[in-house]
Amino acid sequence: MKVVALAGGVGGAKLAAGLQDALPDGDLTVVVNTADDFDLWGLRICPDLDTVMYTLADFANPVTGWGVRKESFNSLGMISVYGEDCWFKLGDKDLATHILRTNRLREGASLTEVTAGLVEALGARARILPMCDEPVATILDTQEGPMEFQVYFVRRGQKDDVRGVELRGIEDAQITESVSVALAGADLILLCPSNPIVSIWPVLAVPGMRKALEASPAPKVAVSPIIGGRALKGPADRMLSSLGHESSATGVARIYEGLIDGMVVDLVDTAERAEIEALGVRVLETEAVMRDAEDRTRLAREVLDFGAKLAGRS
Ligand code: GDP
Ligand code: CA
Repeated sequence: MKVVALAGGVGGAKLAAGLQDALPDGDLTVVVNTADDFDLWGLRICPDLDTVMYTLADFANPVTGWGVRKESFNSLGMISVYGEDCWFKLGDKDLATHILRTNRLREGASLTEVTAGLVEALGARARILPMCDEPVATILDTQEGPMEFQVYFVRRGQKDDVRGVELRGIEDAQITESVSVALAGADLILLCPSNPIVSIWPVLAVPGMRKALEASPAPKVAVSPIIGGRALKGPADRMLSSLGHESSATGVARIYEGLIDGMVVDLVDTAERAEIEALGVRVLETEAVMRDAEDRTRLAREVLDFGAKLAGRS
């Protein structure tokens, strides 16, 4: 079964890892948010692509969920000796990725091509595609004024109220040939349990993406990133609330209304079933928290079975 999964960082990467284990090699394509990419010291950093890539290639730091495992920070230490403010943590091994990516982009390769090279070398068994090749930047509207995403997320620790989200550059972006081909050939399309506002919405907002999704007859299933009204990690719950959505699985289902056929919610959220089904969305209730590799694979198998059932119905 050919599966395309739309993903952000940590939450998306966990489900993607389970899918990679549950599917035959080559059946999984992950389309990753690049709207939180940014430049630092002349290097192009792609946090969500790297999180997915490191996780699927088994290079990820299991404690943080981002970065490379068994990492050291000597370069960053030296950069701080030079007087730079090192609020964004870049490990020595991780830096190698950014140096090579930046160099290859500068030589004229697309982000899709560069990512494919990195993924192949690291040995992930899935295809990992950036949502687009053009640079897009998430700018948040806060009480402090417009704020770049990584400043909000890392430097200021997500303490600001998000009142609006701008995807700078998105109108000049376009769906890539690789993403188009993957979606056209998909038997199942998944929206991973990633932040619906700053991880999944940018992917959906790439010009051509919605049309390609709507043109696909494959069932579309979202896995709720909100469990018991809360995000397991990160600011998704507070962001949903401050932007006028409900911080619940139903609130997420409403954002995806018209696009998804099915939604996977945690057992603590079974009371929301009727409300979600009223949106025309079928519901699978299961243990949706992924604590370890076993959880990921089990959840992935359940999601795949649910998707196959939905395909049988339509
Ligand atoms: P980021 O780019 O690192 O912020 O990561 P994402 O946007 O992919 O992930 C943030 C979301 O992932 C949060 O809303 C979390 O609740 C969700 N998440 C993280 N781990 C899990 C999990 O094990 N299960 C589910 N259902 N959601 C998760
Ligand atoms: Ca992210």
